[in-house]
Amino acid sequence: MKRIPTKPKPQTMYDVIVIGGGPAGMMAAGRAAERGARVLLLEKNPSLGKKLLITGGGRCNVTNAEANTRTLLSHFKDSDKFLFSPFSQWNSIDTIRFFNERNMPTKIEDNLRVFPTSDKAQSVWSVLVQYLKEGAVTVKSGEEVKRMEARGTEITGVTLKSGEILTAQSYILATGGKSRPETGSTGDGFGWLSTLGHTVKEPDASLVPLTLKDTWTKLLSGLTLPEVKISVFQNGKRFNSKKGKLLFTHVGVSGPTILNMSKGIGELLPYGEVTLEIDLFPAYDNGTLDQTLIALFETHSNKHFKNILCELLPTALANALIAHTAINPNTPCHSISKEARKACGLLLKHVPLRVKGLLGVDKAIVTSGGVSLDEINTRTMCSRQFNNLYIVGDLLNIDRPSGGYSLQLCWTTGFVAGSSVALDS
Ligand SMILES: Cc1cc2nc3c(=O)[nH]c(=O)nc-3n(C[C@H](O)[C@H](O)[C@H](O)COP(=O)(O)OP(=O)(O)OC[C@H]3O[C@@H](n4cnc5c(N)ncnc54)[C@H](O)[C@@H]3O)c2cc1C
Repeated sequence: MKRIPTKPKPQTMYDVIVIGGGPAGMMAAGRAAERGARVLLLEKNPSLGKKLLITGGGRCNVTNAEANTRTLLSHFKDSDKFLFSPFSQWNSIDTIRFFNERNMPTKIEDNLRVFPTSDKAQSVWSVLVQYLKEGAVTVKSGEEVKRMEARGTEITGVTLKSGEILTAQSYILATGGKSRPETGSTGDGFGWLSTLGHTVKEPDASLVPLTLKDTWTKLLSGLTLPEVKISVFQNGKRFNSKKGKLLFTHVGVSGPTILNMSKGIGELLPYGEVTLEIDLFPAYDNGTLDQTLIALFETHSNKHFKNILCELLPTALANALIAHTAINPNTPCHSISKEARKACGLLLKHVPLRVKGLLGVDKAIVTSGGVSLDEINTRTMCSRQFNNLYIVGDLLNIDRPSGGYSLQLCWTTGFVAGSSVALDS
């Protein structure tokens, strides 16, 4: 029988090309290099990790400290089964250890959210850049990938904006989602993957701030209320209720609790007006709050009403709410009627805010949608259609709440892909 000689693979300079220098791409590149691979990281911005630097309001909620993997995964809704294998390889405890061992101490805040002790996303960025340097990863910033080339079940190269084609044995795609496009996340990877035949669910805003119809809140822009109860109503029916932080913006409201409620609110809006009710004193029942007001009015009996609400609330909010009570601002406290005081208490527990809408995909913290998980090997993050293509981070169709879960997804999928390509090559 005549032997057909196998065609030798062309020599390439790199074992792996990683496209996208965000958290997922940096972790994947660093990990592949740590395993001995020659890695090229391509980033279209002049510098790496532009979005990473604005995470957590510049403080970077780097992960969630839930140590039990199953409990942690319960926050990823129906993706928990898919994620069990990757999270068995790298979970949030591994993330904390990774950063701590590299001289970045961390602290745990409410709801197990983990931040660098420095309160600076820059610290996270520096650890990742050092990781790339340790592995001698070649970083080419300011290099925009225009296209991915494929033949059969293999990716054969990436075409740069300049027209140059770069090749490697394996490719890790980490170009992110579509939120905050000014950071470089313009959804390029979704387009390439669709063209290559992958199923890509159209990205939609998932964790996104709200705009309000009420204009009086504009004066509160920048104010954060650390612990309120937010309830969502439509036609008098309560749909959701959560305690947490509320942040006023120049167009509406945001903060982790609002972000986590935003998807549900977006689903209600087509059916009619949605109102938020803010309980400013969730730890008090109506009676306790009334007693507090009685004591306050007695202590300041000769002062005008307009000057004493700020004893209970931030001044800007107190000033804004006075107009919503039935009490004349110049009434001395001793003259405030019982009915007016009780109505004031009710307002403080039910501040109504009318939702206008959700800010768009471009302003979201995270977009839902992305590559169908059925088309990804859960153990390696390798595409089931292309045997040398790995897909990580925000490109994956995985819903999750705010609280460090998105970055954990990047560390985990980046680590797993980086481990898998290094073994392949
Ligand atoms: C305001 C804000 C705050 C957030 N805060 C938190 C938080 O505190 N905790 C948390 O867990 N999550 C947070 N997130 C979510 C988190 O930032 C994302 O989940 C994460 O950045 C996704 O990482 P990624 O590497 O997949 O993609 P990205 O961070 O989007 O990185 C993708 C990279 O690919 C590059 N790229 C794109 N196209 C190309 C191309 N054609 N050629 C070359 N390079 C390309 C981009 O320039 C970019 O640098 C926040 C998001 C936002 C917007």
